[in-house]
Amino acid sequence: MTIPARALIDLGAISANVALLRERAGGVPAMAMVKADGYGHGIAEVARAALAGGATWLGVARLAEALHLREAGLTAPILVCLCGPGEPYDRAVAADVDLAAGSAGLLAEIAAAADRAGRPARVHLKADTGMSRGGAGPSDWPSLVDAALAGQAAGRLRAVGLMSHLACADEPDHPANAAQLRAFAEAADYAEKAGIHPEVRHLANSAALLTIPAARYDLVRPGIAMYGLSPLPERGAFGLRPAMTLSAAVALVKRVPAGSGVSYGMTYTTGRETTLAVVPAGYGDGVPRHGSNLLEVLAGGRRRRIAGRVCMDQFVIDLGDDPIAAGDEVVLFGPGDRGEPTAQDWAGALGTISYEIVTRIGARVPRVYEGRPDGRATS
Ligand SMILES: *Cc1c(COP(=O)(O)O)cnc(C)c1O
Repeated sequence: MTIPARALIDLGAISANVALLRERAGGVPAMAMVKADGYGHGIAEVARAALAGGATWLGVARLAEALHLREAGLTAPILVCLCGPGEPYDRAVAADVDLAAGSAGLLAEIAAAADRAGRPARVHLKADTGMSRGGAGPSDWPSLVDAALAGQAAGRLRAVGLMSHLACADEPDHPANAAQLRAFAEAADYAEKAGIHPEVRHLANSAALLTIPAARYDLVRPGIAMYGLSPLPERGAFGLRPAMTLSAAVALVKRVPAGSGVSYGMTYTTGRETTLAVVPAGYGDGVPRHGSNLLEVLAGGRRRRIAGRVCMDQFVIDLGDDPIAAGDEVVLFGPGDRGEPTAQDWAGALGTISYEIVTRIGARVPRVYEGRPDGRATS
């Protein structure tokens, strides 16, 4: 049976990327960021491959993602980075999931849940060091630290981590990086002096891990680089290998005369008699509609541009007189070895980042796993 469109995930590449990143980080422990279904690659499978590659922590955005990982049998420490009010923190405590907290109100809510659960909650105090997104800014930091100390004294909280996030790590020379590092050092110093002794202090994403050694602290949090995509594409690939190959089997081939309008709106017209192939992947699968008449794919050994508009379930390519048959594989993007575009190539053409290309691949597209998650080659 041919699968119309599928995402082949090379788990060996993920393990190898994690091992490479750990080496680049000078051996500092790594939290594998597997939020958003492992950046579209499949959360539990990616988590196992990352642990096989040497990561020792898992990071997600939402509590539901962490609980899913626990249900899938993953026992490594997991941090939920984005916690809001009214979530089932009793379940987080029961599942031994770490929670990031950036406000005293949230800490109080977590402490109450820990009280009900009958054991302390593990929290990471989140500092806003300049990004103006999550976390406590300098004026709120002392009260967050006080709330954590009170929770610890009552046996309801354990402040195991201090964390922040960088706004401009993908621009290593941006002055905000040094300013955020200074602010983080100050926040950590304040907390230590107040009596918080965390196991881990962390703020480095992939870009910071690779280019800002002072940001590594006790734990690095790579996301995109684990999946083999460069966080700084203009600085190269850093030896990383893209893990996802998106491909589809041609559904239909037809010969059409010159002047044939193609797809909705007929924004593409054949210049001469030609062969068209229908590729069963559309915006319902995550192929961006903005890629109409723009994005390239690999078909019959050559790059072809999508002809006309991307539809919900399909798009068309124009092959001229080159041979192609129904069932032939079209590679939308992949590692680039065979001449196919990479997710970064698509991102560059669309004016976005590779993160968005892989994360948007839809639930309808089956993920097919290859490679051993320990990074060793399969025979
Ligand atoms: C997603 C995320 C990361 C990873 O970022 P990348 O740029 O993909 O490496 C790190 N830390 C936090 C808090 C995140 O949410």
